[in-house]
Amino acid sequence: MFNDSIVHGDLSPDPPQLLPFISDKLLSIYLPIIVYWVYSLVFEAISYLEWPCFEKYRLHTPLELRQRNKASPGAVFRDVVVQQLVQTICGLILMKFEPDRPSVDAVVERAQLAARMVRYNVDVKNAAVASLVLHDYVFPAARFVIAITVLDTWQYFLHRAMHLNKWLYRTFHSRHHRLYVPYAYGALYNHPIEGLLLDTIGAGLGFLVSGMSVGESVFFFTFSTLKTVDDHCGYNFPWDPLQIFFPNNSQYHDIHHQSYGIKRNFSQPYFTFWDKVLGTHMSAEEIPKKLKLTKTGVKVESEVTVTEVDSSSESSSTEKEETVTRRVTRRQAAMAAAL
Ligand SMILES: [Zn+2]
Ligand SMILES: [Zn+2]
Repeated sequence: MFNDSIVHGDLSPDPPQLLPFISDKLLSIYLPIIVYWVYSLVFEAISYLEWPCFEKYRLHTPLELRQRNKASPGAVFRDVVVQQLVQTICGLILMKFEPDRPSVDAVVERAQLAARMVRYNVDVKNAAVASLVLHDYVFPAARFVIAITVLDTWQYFLHRAMHLNKWLYRTFHSRHHRLYVPYAYGALYNHPIEGLLLDTIGAGLGFLVSGMSVGESVFFFTFSTLKTVDDHCGYNFPWDPLQIFFPNNSQYHDIHHQSYGIKRNFSQPYFTFWDKVLGTHMSAEEIPKKLKLTKTGVKVESEVTVTEVDSSSESSSTEKEETVTRRVTRRQAAMAAAL
């Protein structure tokens, strides 16, 4: 009774909230979806306007975007909404079982941390400051790093399995690869089962394994969504912090969406270390070799050897190498010549 009145009564009746009008639990479910569409709309506007200051960083031409993709924008929109519905239901279930942590918990935890430091002869004032910094900044940052490492590891091995197993590829993952020219709101264009396994369960595992709070999960889920959209945006902006600070960026993931890189760059969405460790890494510098372009060959039309991948079946395509005449984009050719 006494403890209950302290924890739930006088000191702090409610769990802490980032925003006054919505609980952190609901915010962690809805904010990533809002951010997904708002950020995608920004890229849609950039793509529609075709301003030269943005166009020079496009990875593919607008013509390619219209001609090479095997899924219509409407089908992509529909499947993304389905994935987000499934994601919302899973989020509501997960948060239902997540206990509410009253505000007073943080005060108690900081005090316990400070008391432990004092026991090791740390000055009381310093212990108070250190416990605050550790509790409010260092520990949440560590939990975030753990969460994104778990998410990356989960996604690497599952994504790789989807490519190695023909049935998994044909049944689930080939849908995402209908987009040879990725664009922002196509980031979550997946088979619903793949979306559930790869993204929703992956993020849920990151949240649970790291032991982060619901408030911290708002940032983790939202930031991961932002990162995924950015990886599919179709632009290689040199001033985009997400592309500067993370080696796994739009150009890196775009390689995976191309025929020559489909067996490479399985890592997503943050790091590239699993690709490096397990020999599936492919950098932009290796594109010319794959395309068999010479350094001086700024050719728009080029005879290249690629493994053509049909959207519905990787197996038939990977078994035979076809020599095809491919229109290499000006951007790719210029990039190859510059290297
Ligand atoms: Zn893939
Ligand atoms: Zn992708």
